[in-house]
Amino acid sequence: MKQSSRRNFIGQSALAGIGALITLPNLGALAASNNMTNTSNFSPITTGFDQQPLPYVYSALEPSIDTLTMDIHYNKHAAAYSKNLKEAALAEGVDTSKPLEDVLYKISKYSVKMRNNGGGHYNHEMFWKLLSADTTTQPSAKLLAAINTGFGSMDEMKKQFNTAATTRFGSGWAWLIITNDKKLAIISTPNQDNPLMDIAEVKGFPLIGLDVWEHAYYLKYQNRRADYIASFWKILNWNTVNTRFESI
Ligand code: MN
Repeated sequence: MKQSSRRNFIGQSALAGIGALITLPNLGALAASNNMTNTSNFSPITTGFDQQPLPYVYSALEPSIDTLTMDIHYNKHAAAYSKNLKEAALAEGVDTSKPLEDVLYKISKYSVKMRNNGGGHYNHEMFWKLLSADTTTQPSAKLLAAINTGFGSMDEMKKQFNTAATTRFGSGWAWLIITNDKKLAIISTPNQDNPLMDIAEVKGFPLIGLDVWEHAYYLKYQNRRADYIASFWKILNWNTVNTRFESI
């Protein structure tokens, strides 16, 4: 009996080893300069203060999102939010071993630097995970039912989302959220604000967020924000949306 348990154990370890080998090349190529510590305290839907590795290579989302935009967006824009957030956290006595969400829920008590960079870091960490080269992911039956109840149809939800994303003046984000009374809603926020923040006009938990800052699309799409938004739906990772929905 003991021998058989040991064999099982060895079998599982070998499998785990293979898993690690398969995922390493991806992560290795992406992680290069990223701080990978501080991840274990957080579930898939909570957020630490360090930038996590992209879950794909920079070219993975071509042609919807071009390689150069992905590289600059991740390594320059998003990296700066994380760096500046950690500076603000140090200056304002925030415990960075706790989830960033704790700060966002009461962001009105902190500096503008914390608001801009805490929001910026949270939004981008979520955004990368919401994208995928796998264009076959689908909303779960439960999520689809909620969307049909909330909006009448998937098309109508997308239409409202597209309007929110297109009409957000200047820089900001469009969101599909679950409000505190458990209803789905489409909103948009300015700058790097998000619906977790106590200063948000409509508060809730984000299921889908789309970055409509020009830095997210200008190199490829220039002024054609609507085309960028249309491409977003092709690379949306519904598995991530499902996970976020299930977590509520
Ligand atoms: Mn951005």
